[in-house]
Parts: sequence; C-alpha cells; structure tokens
Amino acid sequence: METKQFKAESKRLLDMMINSIYTHREIFLRELLSNASDAIDKIYYKALTDDSLTFDKDSYFIKVTADKENRILKIIDTGIGMTKEDLENNLGTIAKSGSLAFKSENELKDGHDIIGQFGVGFYSAFMVADEVTVISRAIGSDEAFKWESKGAEGYTIVPCEKDSIGSEIILKIKDNTEDESYDEYLEEYRLKGIIKKYSDFIRYPIKMDVTESKLKEGSEDEYEDVQEEQTINSMVPIWRKNKKDLTTEDYEQFYAEKHYGFDKPIKHIHISVDGAVRYNAILYIPEKIPFDYYSQEFEKGLELYSNGVLIMNKCADLLPDYFSFVKGMVDSEDLSLNISREMLQHDRQLKLIAKNINKKIKSELVNILKNEREKYEEFYQSFGRQLKYGVYSDYGMHKEELQDLLMFYSSKEKKLVTLDEYVARMPEEQKYIYYATGETTERIDKLPQTEMVADKGYEILYFTEEIDEFAIRMVMAYKEKEFKSVSSGDLGFDADVDNETESEEKENKDLFDYMKDILNGKVKDVRVSKRLKSHPVCLATDGAVSIEMEKILNAMPN
Ligand code: ADP
Ligand code: MG
Repeated sequence: METKQFKAESKRLLDMMINSIYTHREIFLRELLSNASDAIDKIYYKALTDDSLTFDKDSYFIKVTADKENRILKIIDTGIGMTKEDLENNLGTIAKSGSLAFKSENELKDGHDIIGQFGVGFYSAFMVADEVTVISRAIGSDEAFKWESKGAEGYTIVPCEKDSIGSEIILKIKDNTEDESYDEYLEEYRLKGIIKKYSDFIRYPIKMDVTESKLKEGSEDEYEDVQEEQTINSMVPIWRKNKKDLTTEDYEQFYAEKHYGFDKPIKHIHISVDGAVRYNAILYIPEKIPFDYYSQEFEKGLELYSNGVLIMNKCADLLPDYFSFVKGMVDSEDLSLNISREMLQHDRQLKLIAKNINKKIKSELVNILKNEREKYEEFYQSFGRQLKYGVYSDYGMHKEELQDLLMFYSSKEKKLVTLDEYVARMPEEQKYIYYATGETTERIDKLPQTEMVADKGYEILYFTEEIDEFAIRMVMAYKEKEFKSVSSGDLGFDADVDNETESEEKENKDLFDYMKDILNGKVKDVRVSKRLKSHPVCLATDGAVSIEMEKILNAMPN
C-alpha cells in the first residue's frame, strides 16, 4: 500500500496563519522580538560548549527603527543569523521551527529561555506589512542572503552584503485603507508601548532612537528635538531577582509601573516555586478598592508570562472570585501554549499554579491579620465584602478556607473582631454565637432584641451588610458553636418561659387574640416576652429565616 503525502494549499494556509491566529495585530512585534532574542540566546548557548566562541553580553542587542516617510519598520538583531538553507527551511516552511530544533539538538531541557517552538510567529509580520525582507548573515559565514516575500505569492532568496553577523527584518508597513490605519506601527510612542507591554523582560536590550525635546545648549528657554538611542525594555524581570536584594520600594515601583493601581499596595507576595510546575509570581494586595470593583465591568486576573514574554493580560483562571482583588503577575516556563501563544493548551499546569497561589494569598492574609491588625482592618474595609461573598458562593464550598478571615463589629469591643476571638472569650455556659442584623451599628444598638442577650453579658456580632447573614448561615457553626440571631424565638438560655410567663399568657389570652386579629396574618403569634427591658414590644422569628433575611429575600426578583 502506498502512503500518500498530504498536500497543503500553502497560499491558503499562510493566509489563515496571518489572519486567523491572532486576536491582536500588535503582537507581530512581540513575535519578531522573541525571534531576535532567541537568535542571541543561541549564540549564548553555543558559547557555553564551544571554546572558540565567547559571549560578551554587552555586545548583543536588538534595535527597532521606524522610518515614517517610507513606511519602513526594521527589527535588527546581533543574533546567530541564518544561512541560505536556514532561510529556506525556517522562513520558507510554514510551521518549521528552527528554534525548536535547536533546543533538541542542544539538549536544552529546563531553564532555558528560548521562546520559539511553533514556527509560525514570523508570518504575523504580514498582518501589518505587505512586504517583508530578511537580510541575514549566519555566525561563521562571510556570505549574507536576502529573503524577500509579499506573503502568499512566495519568496525569493538572493545573495547580498551585510557587514556583521545577525539579521535585519525589514517590514514595508501597509498603506492605510478606508477602515484600517497602520500608521501606529511607525509611531515611536506606540512602538515603545508595545515593546514595554509584551517584551519588557526580554533579556537583551531592545533599543530605539527616541526623539526628545531638550533645552538647547546655552539657552534657558529654547528647546530642540534631540535623537537619542535608548533601551526600552527593563530586561531583568524583578520576579527573577532574589527576594533578599529587593526592597519594598522596588515592589511598589513595579506596582506603579505596571499600572496595577494608583494606590500603594498594603502587601506584596513574591513567590518562586521550583516544584512540579516552576513559576515565579509577584502578587499584591491593594489598599484601595478600584472604582469599578463591585461592578460588572471589573475583570479579575493576573498577568501571565511565559519565559518573560506576556501571554495574557488578565488570566482569570489564576484567581478565585473571592480573591479577585489581588493584582500581579505569574511567569512560568512550563506552560503549554497554543499556537498563537495567547492561550494555554492544557490548563493542568495553570490549575496547579492557581491552587498554589490561592494558598499563599490565604496564608499571607492570615499573617497580616495576626501581625498587622490595623493594616488588615484597612484591607477588610475595602474587600471584606468579597470574602463574605466567597463564603456564601458555590454552596459554601470555600467556607473552611475563608471563615478565619472574616470580621464583624462586636457589641463588646466596639470594633471588628474575628470569629476566633469571639469564641475564645465566650463564657462557658454560652451556647451560641449571637448576632443581630440591622442597617447600622447604631440602629442595632437600639433594637429591643439585643438587650436581653447583652444583659446576659454575651457578646453580639453586628451584621450591617446584606451578605453577612447569608454568609454566616453558610458557615453554620464556628468551632462547634452555632450562630443564633438575637431575634430568634429561642435564644438558648432559660429566660423566656417559666410559670409566671405561662400564667401571664393565660390571663392575657383575649388581648393577644385580639392583637393577632388586628394584625391580620402579619404575625403568627403574640406572646409574653421576658427579653424586653426598656422596650414595650419586639418582633421575633421562629424559623430559619430571620426578619432581615426575609426582607432581602422579599426584595429579590423572582
Ligand atoms: P518559532 O519562533 O516559533 O520557531 P517563527 O515563525 O517565529 O517560529 O520563526 C521560525 C524560525 O525562523 C525560528 O525558529 C528560527 O529558526 C528562524 N528565525 C526567525 N527569526 C530569526 C532571527 N531573527 N534570527 C535567526 N533565526 C530566526
Ligand atoms: Mg518565533
């Protein structure tokens, strides 16, 4: 039997490659810069085993130049370069990755930085260019070659001149059409922005000639435009540095640079894990609520990097909803990316990372609560509600994890206390954790229902937010102590019913019946109460639903 080769319609394939893989056009620059970085890395790795090569880090760089008038954008590197065959194989064959081959040939397994693997990124240049030229001279060769292509039509390779080792990728940026403008890819400001966004942590300098307005020499008020070569990327990612060498200011600066927020974070968490999945992360607990936090528009998520290259701006899967306030980034070399490198292929690694991160955030919050109470209370003012939603959501699945982080205003302490603190100082005979619901602490103070419990010397937690009681109903009991509303019929201590009450009940039967009648179905029963002190009457409930909850439930749309 003869096995036939698949035929591919390469024109269409290329067209698909160019137009359907990526969601954002701007990533073409990320792809070309990643290739340039890979090319330099290859010299670096070769030098490790080849004595005739030395790698002097300072002489390697990438340069981006834009010529607006002629609509030419160049990405120049001092990397390993390509021979004629390399050009043919790597740029002439779709889905052929010279970088992937390099990794296996050189048995680079872990900890390397080479980014390429799919052999398609290069073609993304055609999203913004109608013609791409590559001039390249390979290491150890004195010949240079020019590869040129207008996309689907194919390519040519001819010998040419080039003084130094490395490659120049020359893009003829598309003309604007009626609906699309491509001018931005020639704008210095925009290019700098794209480099910063995706390629800030490429290990080699990415340089640009930047125009800046400066004071004329000898003048005090006359300015002139000066061109100056600048390195745009920060190169060494802060998360790869040793924690010991970093100060709080360094982390705060990173927070500001990354626009995670305008506030100062109350805490940073720097994680470096070298286990089943390797990753680094820097997380922040913000101080202030983002203005849109409790709105539909708010998007949770952490930045996700693969080997220092940005893959996703907001990876939602890394954070549970109840920690959605956390900001920061994760970088891992162990992610299996999909072909556009915008998404993940398998989320197994991601799940592991997310689980791990979740634990760290929790334990950090516990730490702050224990050691920096004031800070925690500040944090809790902003995000406590989210934690309570967390307890309530998913049928209480996360309550064990979160209940220690909860705080409520206490009748005794007149400030926020934790459940643990409450239970620790409960008198021995006290059976329940008591709470009272109301709009404000002042209002709750005035409730007749609270008097009795307070009089017993028992502490009461004040629930002033709608979510409070729902969350606590999910928790059910803390350290085996159940929660009880001060407005429930049975408060759990003998005060309500005794002989005296019973006789009073009998004596006033007619009056009570009359009251019930007048209230016409609004109350189930009218009884004598011993819990009243300064108030003539109070409402109490029998069932599982408190008065406050009932109000909320009634207000909910069916
Ligand atoms: P990938 O980077 O995933 O391998 P690309 O389509 O981006 O795929 O690039 C294809 C191949 O072309 C690379 O693997 C590499 O061998 C080669 N290549 C691309 N750009 C350069 C460059 N600037 N210098 C040297 N080789 C390059
Ligand atoms: Mg690539």
